[in-house]
Amino acid sequence: MRLLEEILEYNEEFVSEKKYEQYATTKFPNKRMVILTCMDTRLLELLPKALNVGNGDVKLVKNAGALVSHPFGSIMRSLLVAVYQLNADEILVIGHHDCGMSGMKADKMIAQMKERGIKEETLEMLTYSGMDVEKWLEGFNDVTESVQHSVEMIRKHPLLPKDIPVHGLVIDPETGKLDLVSNGYGETRI
Ligand SMILES: [Zn+2]
Repeated sequence: MRLLEEILEYNEEFVSEKKYEQYATTKFPNKRMVILTCMDTRLLELLPKALNVGNGDVKLVKNAGALVSHPFGSIMRSLLVAVYQLNADEILVIGHHDCGMSGMKADKMIAQMKERGIKEETLEMLTYSGMDVEKWLEGFNDVTESVQHSVEMIRKHPLLPKDIPVHGLVIDPETGKLDLVSNGYGETRI
């Protein structure tokens, strides 16, 4: 059985046996915050446990590297939706050590794309159209700096209310230990 079929088969049982009942909650976060973090598999359960957040407690936004790379991209939009529509009053950005985006080199990934059948002319066409693929794919060198950068992008966003604290943290993907990068309570923004 392939993965999708396996999932669908399990799902029938999940629903018919009402296993969903224990997860009943609302779309509004009990702890009134939104967390932006990385899609790393090690954080799937560890991060909520390490922060003592359970189902229904927070809004959780994930991408590769916990990065806000564009002020008007879908990550920033998600954070704004959480704040304006879903009662999130604080924002936490949580990067982690040993992240796949740390030290990621665009040229290596581009080489892999070519191996998987993406043509050189496609890449050239994108460059010609003004799309800097290399810059778009580039990771970061230092997770603390990266978190600080994302925090600043959010804090300075023209559409974010000034009274929303934005905090930055780094988590250890093995122990769950959090290190504070930036405490948003003391920040005054203009
Ligand atoms: Zn990561």
